[in-house]
Amino acid sequence: MKLSKNMLLVNTSIIVLSISLLLAFRLIDRSFPDVHVLAYPTVGGVVQGEQLEGQVVVTAEANKGYRFLGWVQNGQVVSEKATFSFKPSNEQTITANFQKYMAEIKLVASENLGGQVYGEGEFDFDEEITVIAEPKFGYVFEGWIKDGNIVSEHLDYSFVVKDDALLEARFKLDLKSQTLRISDGDYFLALVNKDTYLGRYAPTDLVSINKDMLKYPQWRYELREEAYTNLEKMWKSAKEDGVVLYIASAYRSYDTQSQVFNENVNRHGEIVANRSSARPGESEHQLGTAVDFVAHKNGRLMDFEGTPGALWLMENAHKYGFIMSYPKGKEEITGYIYEPWHYRYIGMDAAQECKEAGLTLVEYLMTKPQFFEKPAEYVNN
Ligand SMILES: [Zn+2]
Repeated sequence: MKLSKNMLLVNTSIIVLSISLLLAFRLIDRSFPDVHVLAYPTVGGVVQGEQLEGQVVVTAEANKGYRFLGWVQNGQVVSEKATFSFKPSNEQTITANFQKYMAEIKLVASENLGGQVYGEGEFDFDEEITVIAEPKFGYVFEGWIKDGNIVSEHLDYSFVVKDDALLEARFKLDLKSQTLRISDGDYFLALVNKDTYLGRYAPTDLVSINKDMLKYPQWRYELREEAYTNLEKMWKSAKEDGVVLYIASAYRSYDTQSQVFNENVNRHGEIVANRSSARPGESEHQLGTAVDFVAHKNGRLMDFEGTPGALWLMENAHKYGFIMSYPKGKEEITGYIYEPWHYRYIGMDAAQECKEAGLTLVEYLMTKPQFFEKPAEYVNN
């Protein structure tokens, strides 16, 4: 880059020559030839130039990972010293040559940070290094990806450093590959979704829900006793706050769920039915701890979002041990579309933790692998 006649030019560090200094050059020495100071490659380092008593003093400083090789003019190395002075006789270019001697290896973990990666840094060329991927609980490792290709499927990947590289450790949430199945429906933290299966589990401690709380008081709705006790407290507390909630669905047996699912398949087709309703054996309603709410007696589930009841539950349900099972933005994790009306009892402590950390049940369980073993009281059953 050339700025103007009779000025000393620098390519990356123009700032070192102040305006007054440049003007001084021009006034004092109009005949001084242009000198262009360059860096090659430009990312290799920073060059500076100064005019001192008829001489030009150039300085080169290598960037991280590069070393300075020498000053070159007209294809000849004129100095290997970083600071070099000479007396220019005519317009000329002097170039600081740099050489890269280290490569930067960067690592990223994909799929919502499904694991940890270790081993990134700067390395000498031709050095053999090993990078390590460590999937989090509930995730599987799919491989190391470089430039869109899988370069290794091993957690420990060793290779010889040839250049800068960005390696992606690809993790995938995979519940089936883990011992995530808590098929014991009696357990309040039992995981019930499309990857697990309750079979024909039926709770043995169901109690009837008070008719005042029901959308259809002429029908009988049931929940497990502990869940119901807390539902009742929650319902009364909401009422004291001026919010009336109606329960549109509670316990559904395996057979009832079969009917619901088949009706949905008939009405909307299997793909839609599978996203919006559960197959028998895969529904939280079969646990006897899940309830669906509507805002008024004629209310529909799909109209519940944003109602005072919906807002009240989002704020308070955890205090009574309930969580929204299928929150917005978690469809990939839960496998279900957003259901602001569907709440499930998981107990006070777990609900509190889920609420504070913004976790769904499966995410919460993945932070606590011990929950995936059968609790002691069930081992001998
Ligand atoms: Zn539901």
